[in-house]
Amino acid sequence: MPHFEVVIVGAGPAGSIAAHTLAKNNISCAILERRKSPGFPVCCGEAVSEASLKAAGIFHGSYVDKKIPGFRIFFPNGKYMTVNSPGCLINREKFDRYIFDLAAEKGAKPFLKHRVLSAKRNAGGFEVATDNSNFTCKYLVGADGPESLIDTLFFNNGRKLVDAVQYKLPKTAYKYDSNGYIDFYYDASSSRYMWVFEKSKEINAGGCVADKELLRRFIKKQFGVEESGHAGFCRGKIPAAGIKDKIFDNNVFLVGDAAGLVNPVTLAGIYSALLSGKICAYCIFGEVKLGKANSPGVYEKVINKQPFASPDLKYLASRCFDLPQEVLLFLGEYFDSNDYRHKDFTKFLRLALKYPAVLADIKPLFKLRKLLKSGADKMW
Ligand SMILES: Cc1cc2nc3c(=O)[nH]c(=O)nc-3n(C[C@H](O)[C@H](O)[C@H](O)COP(=O)(O)OP(=O)(O)OC[C@H]3O[C@@H](n4cnc5c(N)ncnc54)[C@H](O)[C@@H]3O)c2cc1C
Repeated sequence: MPHFEVVIVGAGPAGSIAAHTLAKNNISCAILERRKSPGFPVCCGEAVSEASLKAAGIFHGSYVDKKIPGFRIFFPNGKYMTVNSPGCLINREKFDRYIFDLAAEKGAKPFLKHRVLSAKRNAGGFEVATDNSNFTCKYLVGADGPESLIDTLFFNNGRKLVDAVQYKLPKTAYKYDSNGYIDFYYDASSSRYMWVFEKSKEINAGGCVADKELLRRFIKKQFGVEESGHAGFCRGKIPAAGIKDKIFDNNVFLVGDAAGLVNPVTLAGIYSALLSGKICAYCIFGEVKLGKANSPGVYEKVINKQPFASPDLKYLASRCFDLPQEVLLFLGEYFDSNDYRHKDFTKFLRLALKYPAVLADIKPLFKLRKLLKSGADKMW
């Protein structure tokens, strides 16, 4: 049975960046992936902030479809607020493949078409069985996405997943003026939000809904035409409850979506997947190469200090998706296409008299503004 220091389950961004970081530090690792090709089929809005790619140390032009100046949040009266925070729309398949190839180039051993079926502890560490072959290792990393088997086997944290569906619409048939931004919509059909991300050749139109009929209605509303003929449809799950209770135990790590590391407000998970994969690899490095026996054990603590694990986000997520209609209308009228830092005290008071319900929700609104101010780039 082949033995590796580390076995990583899943070749998404979290698993591949962990494998890359380990391999470039000469730590033997295997990356087990059930699919034929990493990143395919794509199920992602494909938006990522530039700062997060830089922080993860992998910014590279090859997978960038288009640069964007930030995002806009649309309210039910059609008005919006702008958040200027540079980023890009990527080609997710190329992106996942790029990190996976980087890891393999550095010496990580990839095993595609290897679905992990079980994993258990043995005297030296772990024994991992796939539908193809078996492996042993000292450290086990669960990078296996929102429905993580490694979580079920070793932690049983439970899941709170949001359904999401998305169409890729050809730009030849659908007209949309994004003015370069990506757009999020408060929409009554979703418990979170819907989105329209205009790429260079197609438009990713999606929503946090389970029923694709609701997305089709949203498309009709935004584009003025029925959805007919698309360049791809996907259905996926997003962990929406923030970081899970337990993400490390005696040399088993959960990273990325498997650890619930998605920003619970924006539901963006690429940044946290990259960062948690890297941090996990450095915790293993600390023990293997520097002889620091307590290094793996600090993983949970370090992750809990990252912006995407902040308790403020959990609080905000519990408040900002059920704001009363009146508050949403207030926000639309107040910002009226301005940046979120917009200040107009007279207008605020005038509108607060018109929409008094806003005063009851002032706390989460100010908290959101503060979070954006302290690091909009780290929200997605
Ligand atoms: C519709 C949708 C739109 C999204 N849009 C965005 C966005 O615009 N921006 C953003 O930042 N985030 C977005 N997200 C979230 C983002 O896609 C995830 O947070 C990110 O992919 C997490 O990376 P990961 O490596 O943790 O997991 P994943 O990318 O899910 O990778 C997990 C890998 O593990 C493999 N795997 C699973 N089980 C096994 C097994 N038993 N054996 C072997 N392999 C296994 C899977 O095949 C997969 O390749 C979106 C999610 C959805 C569903």
